[in-house]
Amino acid sequence: MMNIYDCHLHSRLSFDSREDMENYVRIAVAGGDSRFITTEHMDLESHFSPRHFDIVPDFARQRKLLSQLAEKYPIEMLFGVEAGWRRDIRERNRQIISQNPFDFVIMSVHESEKYDVSFPEFRQGRTVDRCYNEYLSLVCEAVESFDNFDTLGHIDYVLRYAGHTDLDRHSRLLKKIFRRLIEKDKALELNTKAFPDPQAVERAVKAVKLYTSMGGRKFTMGSDAHKTQYYKNGFETGIRLLKEHGADSLMFYRQRKGEKLPL
Ligand SMILES: [Zn+2]
Ligand SMILES: [Zn+2]
Repeated sequence: MMNIYDCHLHSRLSFDSREDMENYVRIAVAGGDSRFITTEHMDLESHFSPRHFDIVPDFARQRKLLSQLAEKYPIEMLFGVEAGWRRDIRERNRQIISQNPFDFVIMSVHESEKYDVSFPEFRQGRTVDRCYNEYLSLVCEAVESFDNFDTLGHIDYVLRYAGHTDLDRHSRLLKKIFRRLIEKDKALELNTKAFPDPQAVERAVKAVKLYTSMGGRKFTMGSDAHKTQYYKNGFETGIRLLKEHGADSLMFYRQRKGEKLPL
């Protein structure tokens, strides 16, 4: 899988990973990759933090590490971030993103106004479909109200916790989201974290089919790994299903500019 890059990765610069960035880089170099990117978590005023502190990677350290690793290994090192969107922090998100020289920005929805959607409180007393409906409403607002990103992360994030549902039941909101992404010329992420779980694959197939049927052509792919053992997890399946449903390339971003890499 040379030159198919994993565009969603976390190292110990993210609060929920303990992996050294260099361990990923060694695997990438051994696999013949010429580029490498990590996308560390930035969740401002996060519900994950009991007192709603900012969860922000040390960007200066991240950049220093990237340049050190670029000296040590024959690989281009790129600077990414996964920015968590929430209505009340979007101005600060916008500022921080424009103040840092990122190559690539994933916008993800992790939290509602009250909870991180992985918390049981978010799901309590509600069906999977109600949780997913609320989640997609937030994603919809995110893509409408925010422009400073390159790809939309994991559109089925809440289903990792709430359980599976048929994406056909949510096509109205999904169409709205995809229409906005296409209009704004943003990419859609195929997040392979839950592969090869057949239900996660089924959801991905439905999302990819709907998005390509609407004219969506820009995809990024990422494993969302927090440990090296999940680096490029599920990529064979991801590539196969993209090809089967009309995608012929993946996007790769450098200095916020997208390049199409043929599949
Ligand atoms: Zn995420
Ligand atoms: Zn992530």
